[in-house]
Amino acid sequence: MVHRQEPVSARPGGASPVRTCVGCRARAADKLLLRVVLVDGNVVPDPRRRMPGRGAWIHPDPSCLATAEKRRAFSRAFKVQGTVGVEVVRSEIERHADSVGVGRPHAEEETRKQVDPS
Ligand SMILES: [Zn+2]
Repeated sequence: MVHRQEPVSARPGGASPVRTCVGCRARAADKLLLRVVLVDGNVVPDPRRRMPGRGAWIHPDPSCLATAEKRRAFSRAFKVQGTVGVEVVRSEIERHADSVGVGRPHAEEETRKQVDPS
């Protein structure tokens, strides 16, 4: 018999810190978000959450990245003028999306609704 720990985020008042995604602005447990920091004008992922300085949080989701870019949310989050480079974090997010199967063609088949022909 295996007793697995429930995710902390399911418990209100739990100790899991909640962060806001700079893309969709949704609040989520920090373990669901990717921490990013600014290094030499580029937004880079900080998966170990150890890098110094101001961090921002984003869902590892290409659409959140696109939204954040459109809004210049990174510039605001890092309090810099102008735009910042997102190529590094983009490739990280795309790699992540690939590994969890987001947008895989056959995933659509499994979730396709059965339509009643009447
Ligand atoms: Zn998001």
